[in-house]
Amino acid sequence: MNDLIQQFDEVSFTYTYFLIDPSTKEAVIIDPVDTKLNNLINFINEKQIKIKYVLETHAHADHITSAGNLCKMTGATAATPAHCNISNADIQLTDGQELTFGNNQVIKAIHTPGHTAGSMSFLWNDKVFTGDTLLINGCGRTDFQSGSNSDLYHSVTEKLFKLPEDTIVLPGHDYHGKKQSTIGDEKRNNARLAGKSLDEFTHIMDNLDLPKPKLIDQAVPANLTLGLVSHAAE
Ligand code: FE
Repeated sequence: MNDLIQQFDEVSFTYTYFLIDPSTKEAVIIDPVDTKLNNLINFINEKQIKIKYVLETHAHADHITSAGNLCKMTGATAATPAHCNISNADIQLTDGQELTFGNNQVIKAIHTPGHTAGSMSFLWNDKVFTGDTLLINGCGRTDFQSGSNSDLYHSVTEKLFKLPEDTIVLPGHDYHGKKQSTIGDEKRNNARLAGKSLDEFTHIMDNLDLPKPKLIDQAVPANLTLGLVSHAAE
């Protein structure tokens, strides 16, 4: 069985990941999407895997998570970044904290604020799941939900870019059909961050002129409860 499965939500362009320990069939899910809940459960049943943890990289603004329902249905434990204030998560992850699953599989949480103040990346062997901190040839926006240009710049240049160059980058989204990159490729080619000063990066980010995410008023409150309590926009 392949130990990494990448699934795509074509509405929000979100990647959801299954990390599977082949010897025990114990697994971890990162960033599941609510509208894909049935697909995720079908995949779990079909592959006969046991979900130990459901992780969130941050409280998303563009889709609602299915983490809460997945935990209820599978008995998994929810682990989310402490600074995201997702109050009903069982584990509030702090920088450097490690989670283990399967046969000595280790996931390390790396606090990478900037897209949101709580955002985390997850390092697993030679792979890093970067959420919306580092995208392929881009990065998450910094203009809402306690985002910060300087935090994102420092998270990427001082934490993620310090990983070995052949580390595989697995982002939270891609809008151009790309599935993965490497730290070396992003250090050399990322249009927003490669070789850029903080001032240059700030200038780029302050001039993106992006529309407000359509779902933000529903998604953020819902995601602060793992998607279990939804609050209609008022
Ligand atoms: Fe996001």
